[in-house]
Amino acid sequence: MSCFGCEINEQLLKLTDQKVLAEVEEQLLMEINLASDDLRGSRLAICAGCPFRQSHTCTKCGCYVAFRTSLEIKSCSVGKW
Ligand code: SF4
Repeated sequence: MSCFGCEINEQLLKLTDQKVLAEVEEQLLMEINLASDDLRGSRLAICAGCPFRQSHTCTKCGCYVAFRTSLEIKSCSVGKW
C-alpha cells in the first residue's frame, strides 16, 4: 500500500502517459510510411534503456519517442537504431 501522495503522483503519471499517447496517435493518423509493429517495438526497446530518453521524450531530437519510433524513415539521432 502506498501513501496518499504517492498515489496522486502515480495517477498524474498515468494521465500524462494517456495524454502523450493520445497526442502521438492523433499525429500518426496524418503520417504515411509507418514502421511495422516489430520495427517499432525493437526501436522502443532500445530507447527504453537509453540515457538520452527523459520520460516520453528523446533529448537528442526533442521528439516523443513513441512518435519517432513509429515512422519508418526516421532514425535515432545518435545511431542506436
Ligand atoms: S532516439 Fe536514440 S538517442 Fe533518442 S532516446 Fe531513442 S535511442 Fe536514445
